[in-house]
Amino acid sequence: MSNLPSEPEFEQALNEVKLTLAPFLKKHPEYQKALEIVQVPERVIQFRVVWEDDNHVPQVNRGYRVQFNSALGPYKGGLRLHPTVNLSILKFLGFEQIFKNALTGLSMGGGKGGSDFDPKGKSPNEVRRFVKAFATELTRHIGADTDVPAGDVGFSTREGGFLFGTYKQIKNEWVGILTGKALDWGGSHVRPEATGYGLVYYVEHMIREAEGEQSGWKGKKVAVSGSGQVAQFAALKLMELGATVLSLSDSKGSLIAKDEAGYTKEQIQEVYKIKYDRKELSTLGDQGGKLEFHGNGARPWKLVKAYDAALPCATQNELDKSDAEEAIKRGCKYVAEGSNMGVDADGISVFEKSRAEKGKGGCWYGPGKAANAGGVAVSGLEMAQNSQRLTWAPEEVDEKLKNIMKDAYDLCLKTGAEFPPEGEKAGSDGLPSLVQGANVAGFKKV
Ligand code: GLU
Repeated sequence: MSNLPSEPEFEQALNEVKLTLAPFLKKHPEYQKALEIVQVPERVIQFRVVWEDDNHVPQVNRGYRVQFNSALGPYKGGLRLHPTVNLSILKFLGFEQIFKNALTGLSMGGGKGGSDFDPKGKSPNEVRRFVKAFATELTRHIGADTDVPAGDVGFSTREGGFLFGTYKQIKNEWVGILTGKALDWGGSHVRPEATGYGLVYYVEHMIREAEGEQSGWKGKKVAVSGSGQVAQFAALKLMELGATVLSLSDSKGSLIAKDEAGYTKEQIQEVYKIKYDRKELSTLGDQGGKLEFHGNGARPWKLVKAYDAALPCATQNELDKSDAEEAIKRGCKYVAEGSNMGVDADGISVFEKSRAEKGKGGCWYGPGKAANAGGVAVSGLEMAQNSQRLTWAPEEVDEKLKNIMKDAYDLCLKTGAEFPPEGEKAGSDGLPSLVQGANVAGFKKV
């Protein structure tokens, strides 16, 4: 029996990697040791964050930074502010981040951090006091060539501003110690859009592989979960490319389009404002009978009647086995994670079985490690721009993002074909496993 405390989310992420690496390790047993090594973080920093609320009462939270792996570059990964945050969740996210960052082809190691602080219901001044206290401790551990945080759930440009300012004040230097900054103070064009856009670009390659070079998003019906930055920009890009977005969601429930036409661009812009004000998605209302809200935390997968693609963009384990079975019944051919570990282990098995048995007629799964790597990829491009004291044009960044997503996809496809899951024949005519491809390719690089 292990003497380590149980870490369910981390163990889930680790088990998935172990399972998919099995065929590779069988061929290359000399890498077994590397797997043992890579699963232990290089360093875990835990600290106390004391801040004062608006009633001048001191409050305390836990702060973390997991510096997981620096083989390929400075630790890189976001900060999550959410009441569920604990070491297991940050270790899972940091572990995923190592391989995700490797798949971008840029020089970035893997890390993750955050706090169990809940920004919901806090005044802007309370958020500022919390982040300043958090950043005061974090400052001694980060640096442009050491560890470069970014945002994640609950931590966006505003919080980044407080962190960047605190670092600058303490160190008296302006350096790129953070990505996802606002444009005015060293941010990159297309960083807010990057995860959502990158996801849509990645799946476009999947569609072309399965349906031919001429095909794409045009005419596809898509179920999207989440309503934050990833979901919003995925939705806008989907619409731009001719797809229909049939759902969005938040922790309270799902807002489903009743109309075949789906969401409009204006409605997504409205969602941006609602979420910026930290209000619930349901405040968008039914838009004259065009949208219908399903509460009690309902997710879209069993509510949208028929869809070609499912893009979970909210949080981990948001699509399980029964959702996966239902998605396939509703016609879903492509599923890809905008969120990290959006599909749970049993859900992945359902999709992988469908792909293995039905090939192009089945449902193909794109893992978040590759499919949502666009965000951290543009973070890497932001670091490059900061080092040069330059700002590239939006078109240039978007072009680079497209190329990175294409390269990541090609690498997953090729490596997946080379190392199929245990029991599956190599070089079968069907579609290769992209989760095999992502994990083996990422691991090999690290
Ligand atoms: N939080 C994002 C992710 O999960 C972005 C991290 C970053 O830009 O460093 O990949």
